[in-house]
Amino acid sequence: MDNLPDIPEKGRYRFQYRGTNCLNCDHPLDISDRYCPNCSQANSTKKLSLKDFLDEFFASLMSYDSKLLKTLGALLLRPGKITREYIAGKRVSYTNPFRFLLSLTILYFLMINFTGNFSKWDKYGAKEDSYFIESLNDFSFSFGTEEGTEINRGIDSIKQALDFEALKLKIKKQDSLILSDPSDYFKNMGTTSNENQFSQKQEFFTTLLRSDSIYDFKDAVDKYGVAESFGNKLAFNVAHGILKLRSRPGSFISRLISKLPFAVFFFLPVFALFIWLVYIRKKYSYTDHLIFSFHNTALLFILLIISYLIDGIFAVSSNWIFLAIFSLYLLQAMRKFYGQGIFKTCVKYLFLNFIFFILSVFAILILFTGNIFTN
Ligand SMILES: [Zn+2]
Repeated sequence: MDNLPDIPEKGRYRFQYRGTNCLNCDHPLDISDRYCPNCSQANSTKKLSLKDFLDEFFASLMSYDSKLLKTLGALLLRPGKITREYIAGKRVSYTNPFRFLLSLTILYFLMINFTGNFSKWDKYGAKEDSYFIESLNDFSFSFGTEEGTEINRGIDSIKQALDFEALKLKIKKQDSLILSDPSDYFKNMGTTSNENQFSQKQEFFTTLLRSDSIYDFKDAVDKYGVAESFGNKLAFNVAHGILKLRSRPGSFISRLISKLPFAVFFFLPVFALFIWLVYIRKKYSYTDHLIFSFHNTALLFILLIISYLIDGIFAVSSNWIFLAIFSLYLLQAMRKFYGQGIFKTCVKYLFLNFIFFILSVFAILILFTGNIFTN
């Protein structure tokens, strides 16, 4: 009993409330145990009063806070060090990198989506197929000068060359053909090659959607006897997605952004494969590289959030400054974490940036088409 740990002899942690068995996991306890060595629940048999309950809540909040502060501090001030410590086993003092990054990405994209007001972009949406022609007309209006008339003449000749009127007429004709008897039109469609058939189906659904005779795929099945096949459903989704993108681009982008936090978590594991390849002779496992990329992406999002707040408050555009800071930070983090010289690190850094760029383009293409295909 002379070796008592220094504990707050307060409230429910007082000596008199200690038990000899853990109330959570039944592990035998010594009366000197402040916490259960097995499950780390506090050794107290006292029933929770409201005050105890609130104390416990704030204590856990504070401990989360101090972890968060420590994580933020280490991440911001010592590039690469936090990953070193984390994979070396110092885990309890920092927040879990996966959860940390997930919270940050969700926070960032929520901020963008809520304050970005993308729905106002919907006004740029096309109401008709003639949208492009109309915008050309608007364009020619703005030139009243001598040179302007030259340009206007040029635009007129473009319009003639493209023969929009004929194209519109053709679309109109096809529309009325489809709408006169949709079931019959759909039945007689599938005689040509598959690819052609798909675009025919897509046009078919586009026409029906635009004329408000169907609102979802089920309508097409019920009203016009369209078979419930995968190909038909896909053609419908593509028609629906493209119509939405054209008529309400803001909502489309907003929906795309809401998917980005999750895209990050598909993206990073692939990217970590390349880091692993580049540093294959280092004694790090794939998971270590993944944690390294989680930590640094977390920092990127912290900087983006700061930049976003600054932009909002001071009405400036600080994005590029913070991206520049991040570029330098990342180089330093790679040097510290992988412990190689500046030249080697620079070469690998440039290579990984190149890979990152290529993967990003792929990811955006996949997301974009995915958004059209799935609605
Ligand atoms: Zn226990």
